[in-house]
Formats: sequence, structure tokens, C-alpha cells
Amino acid sequence: MTTSREVPGPPAGTDLVVVGAGIAGASIAYHAARAGASVTLLDAGRAGGGVTADSFAWIGSSGVSTGAGAGLRVAATEEYHRLEAELPGLPVTWSGSLRWSAGAWGAGESAPEPGPGQEIVDAATAARREPNLRQAPGWALWAPGDGAVDPVGTAERLVAGAREHGARVHLGSPVVAVRQDGAGRAVGAETAAGFHPAATVVLAAGTATKALAAPLGVRVPVEASPATLLRFRAPAGLVRGVVSTQDFDLRQVSADRLIAAADSPERALAAVRSTFRGAEGVELISARVGARPMPADGDPIIGSVGEVPGLYVAVMHPAVTLAAVVGRLVARELVDGVVEAALAGCRPGRFGRFGRGGPEA
Ligand SMILES: Cc1cc2nc3c(=O)[nH]c(=O)nc-3n(C[C@H](O)[C@H](O)[C@H](O)COP(=O)(O)OP(=O)(O)OC[C@H]3O[C@@H](n4cnc5c(N)ncnc54)[C@H](O)[C@@H]3O)c2cc1C
Repeated sequence: MTTSREVPGPPAGTDLVVVGAGIAGASIAYHAARAGASVTLLDAGRAGGGVTADSFAWIGSSGVSTGAGAGLRVAATEEYHRLEAELPGLPVTWSGSLRWSAGAWGAGESAPEPGPGQEIVDAATAARREPNLRQAPGWALWAPGDGAVDPVGTAERLVAGAREHGARVHLGSPVVAVRQDGAGRAVGAETAAGFHPAATVVLAAGTATKALAAPLGVRVPVEASPATLLRFRAPAGLVRGVVSTQDFDLRQVSADRLIAAADSPERALAAVRSTFRGAEGVELISARVGARPMPADGDPIIGSVGEVPGLYVAVMHPAVTLAAVVGRLVARELVDGVVEAALAGCRPGRFGRFGRGGPEA
């Protein structure tokens, strides 16, 4: 029995099958195709149709200073700027984010230490950032570099970019199994419509990654973590940027629409109405629960799986924020054979034996 390799070996060939056209798989397919790989991208449904469609989609690269994902998050914003330049029409907006917690640090209390990319602003500055606040908080964390995307539009643009670089894209094409050869190597993906051979199979299927890997004897420690996305009808210009409080993460997505990630639709609606002037008529349109792919220790799981040569896993949270940077780094590993130090803390091997009778993580 071998243990998981911590790093990928040299690429056995640059033909890849990427399973999953959510924001993670779409980005990997785009970057790999752009780097010269022969890419086949397979999805059971449409691009961005998984939990990506129900994401709040904040590119929240600020305020995280610990964990394997921290370095990746610091780079996330810059990598989206690069992607914008490469892919005209990418639906990204740069508004900054304003965060406060009324209970924990209101007027008169001392402000917390700002994290990377954040600064502390006073009530007057917070009010300038969000002019419709009824009452500005005493202190807020302002992250000027943060932004947000239309997550489905971004996945679609990445898939279109992959096609422009020669990728073959099969949507509505569920993978039923990863095929192995007699030596146990992953050699491609089986769908109802046929077999797609590859030197490397990349599993970027979100929460479904676990079930796709299980028949290979590989246990991917990722769980479905529910989170609720709310859609509101709202007046134009009510909210300027991303606003995050103890009751909601909130942003305006069009002239008459707000979206929010929140635990309670009722509490969030009441809080929106009481937080902003002119919000009395805001109405809840929908509440949808999405299943976020959440690694057991919270950090991304990205890399080769030593027990099954030719198998590479890419599953992470928060994948919208990380998609641009991770897509580029994964492509460097799989296409150029570079071992990316920035992914060192994300390796499957950190869970001990990753599969085949290995201990529970
Ligand atoms: C309410 C809410 C708010 C969120 N807010 C943020 C945020 O602000 N910022 C952030 O970064 N993240 C946020 N997230 C998390 C983010 O949405 C996810 O991390 C991200 O969408 C995961 O992308 P993915 O590509 O890994 O998964 P998915 O989008 O689920 O994509 C997986 C794809 O694999 C396909 N697939 C599955 N099985 C198969 C198969 N057998 N064969 C072929 N294809 C298959 C699916 O059809 C799907 O398209 C939020 C999530 C929720 C629910």
C-alpha cells in the first residue's frame, strides 16, 4: 500500500478530462486549455448549474490570515483582474466590502485588528460608502479590493474561453465512472454517451466528487454544507457594495434586485428594512438552500491522489473566490509539470492515507 504523494509527478501527457463545469472545474478547464492541454470538460448539467448558481459570489480575498487557503485568498483578487483582462465580458464588479457587527463592536467600543486587505473606517466614512444606512456603525472593516461576480455568467465565460482554446465541452453528460486500467491508473471517464480517455482525470465535481472517487477506493473528505441564498426585490441604488453584518451578506445585483446569504430569511428581511433608508418596500422573492462542498478541515483539497495515478482532485471552499487563482495553479501543475508551492497546504495527503482502507480523517 502506498501513501498519498504530497506533490504531483511529471505529467504523463497533457490530455485531461475535467469532471464538473462549476466555477472550479470551468476555471481549471479554461486555464489548462489556454496552457496548451487537450481538454475534455464534462458536466451532468449546464455550466455553473450546481451550487455555483446559488452562490453569493463575493470575491472575499480580505481578512483571512490563517490556514492553507489564506495565501490563495490574498492572491484571489489580483488573479480575477488578470482573468478580466484575458476574458473580455467576464461579469465581475469591484465595489469593495463593508463589514460590521452591531452586537460585537458598535459605537464607543474598540475596533478589531484589520486583516489583510482591510482597514478600519469610522462612522462618517462608512456612511459615505453606504449613503442609505439609517445609522452608520461606530466602526466598520472596509476592504477596498473586494468584489463579486455573476457566478453562472463567470462559469459560462470560462467554458467559452476553454472552447476558444480548443477544449471539447460536453454538458448534460453525467460521468458514471472513472475507468482504471489493470494497474489501477485512471485512464478516462465513462458517460452514457461514451468513454473519454485521458492521461489525467480531474475531479472538480463539488459535493459529487466524493461519490465519484469512492468506487476507486479513494475517500475524499468533503461534506455538503447547506447555506441559503435570498433574492429580494428592492429599489435601485439601495446598496452600493458588499455589506456584511451579523444578519446578512448583502449586495445589489441589478437595478431592482438584492441578493443575500443569510441564516434566516425573516430576520434578514427585517434587518434589510431596518438597516437602510428607503428599504421599507423590499420584498423576499426566493430562498434557496445550496450545498457547498466543504472539506473536512475547511481548507481546499487539491492535488494528485497517490493511490490512483492519473487522478487529480480539486474541491474547495470558497470556490468562487478561489477559482481564478486555483485554475491557474492547477493548470501549471498538470500541464507544465510544475509543483506549485502555493498549493502545498492543500494536498490530499494531509488527511493521512487518502483512501483504500486509510484511517478516517
Ligand atoms: C448561499 C451561498 C453563498 C455562498 N457565498 C459564497 C461567496 O460569497 N464566495 C465564495 O467564494 N463562495 C461562496 N459560496 C460557495 C460557492 O458557491 C462554492 O464554493 C462553489 O460554487 C463551488 O463550486 P464547484 O465548482 O466546486 O461546485 P459546483 O458548482 O457544485 O459544480 C460541480 C459541478 O459538477 C457537476 N457534476 C456533479 N456530478 C457530476 C457527474 N457525475 N458527472 C459530471 N458532472 C457532474 C455538477 O453538475 C456541477 O455543475 C456560497 C455558497 C452558497 C450556497
